[in-house]
Amino acid sequence: MPLPVSKSHLIGHSTPCYYYDLSLLDATLKEVHKHGLDKGYHVHYALKANHEPYILKKIQEAGLGADCVSGGEIQQALDNGFRADQIAFAGVGKSDQEITLGLESDIFCFNVESLQELSVINEIAKKRQTKAPVALRLNPNIAVKTHTYMTTGLNDNKFGISDEELHLVIEALPNLFYIEFLGIHFHIGSQINHLEPFIELAKKANRYIEQIETAGFTVKILNMGGGYGVNYKEPDNEPIPNFKAFFNVFDTYLNRRSDQEIHFELGRSIIAQAGSLLSRVLFIKERSKKTFAIIDAGMTELIRPALYQATHQIDRINSAKIISNTLKKYDIVGPICESSDSFAQNYSLPVLQRGDLLAIRSAGAYGQVMKSQYNLRPDFPVIYSDELGNQT
Ligand SMILES: *Cc1c(COP(=O)(O)O)cnc(C)c1O
Repeated sequence: MPLPVSKSHLIGHSTPCYYYDLSLLDATLKEVHKHGLDKGYHVHYALKANHEPYILKKIQEAGLGADCVSGGEIQQALDNGFRADQIAFAGVGKSDQEITLGLESDIFCFNVESLQELSVINEIAKKRQTKAPVALRLNPNIAVKTHTYMTTGLNDNKFGISDEELHLVIEALPNLFYIEFLGIHFHIGSQINHLEPFIELAKKANRYIEQIETAGFTVKILNMGGGYGVNYKEPDNEPIPNFKAFFNVFDTYLNRRSDQEIHFELGRSIIAQAGSLLSRVLFIKERSKKTFAIIDAGMTELIRPALYQATHQIDRINSAKIISNTLKKYDIVGPICESSDSFAQNYSLPVLQRGDLLAIRSAGAYGQVMKSQYNLRPDFPVIYSDELGNQT
């Protein structure tokens, strides 16, 4: 169990709390550098995965840009050192205020999801007598093997511009004088662990570029989005996703021209494995057919299992007294008044007792950011492995 801070430090710590292993984050960013940035690719970190200032600082210092899906995230990126010209702004429902903030801040690019949005941005830019830099978010209708709540690139999803609508957008573009057309954008889903969807995407991108350039526009920016998955089942076997394989797909399959920039928006793959949710066992409840371990963290701290039926590895990282190393099966559940407030069913762990400390692993992405105050839960502390950014 790789918790590089002294165990005693964690043992005494109040729970629930989030713990971030910054050396793993650094090592992950190095791989992104080596296989992505060093090849001339631009990588924007998707703030929605985790927007803790201390984490953003590390990512910004590593040379990544920012991918934002709200005005709040644009502001958070700017406040934490990202330059405006590194910020891509995506989202299916941008408000007028958010569009204005993007224009005022002079961000790199709006990823636009419909013809109607395009004309609204054109109007707002016109009022401000400026031009809005735009990439069209296309919906390539690619099926992705992931939870249905994590697919975004199918016609049935609310995201992006469909092939039919693209014709209308291409017709309209020449009359939208306050739009600066930069290129195209995709984001086909999240937690994608196979390379095939990305191969299909790269091939489709080539065809879209041909179609759009035949219509008389130059695609300068090609943004392939994010969605690369992590190994939730065996985080210790694969603490860093295989970025070499990921970027290789695009080396191999994109017909990249020297006048084109290739961008990516990675969230989960950068920060998921660096985070753990630490929690203590409150009570053990024996039933005829199962045993519940009721812990002091719930869906208010980590909603992924309740929201997407996501599974996380759970480790018993220490306890005051280790009773035995005999394994026993538990339903690991939280204290929240919802039956979906459960982290694992039939999960084998050494025999647990009240006070045992558990680490719910791979919780760095879409964990802390989705916290809620439901049940009037108090806010929780955050611990960093280097102890410099700790707010405990
Ligand atoms: C969420 C999101 C991302 C990041 O997705 P990950 O699966 O975390 O890599 C990238 N781009 C857009 C537009 C997004 O909405």
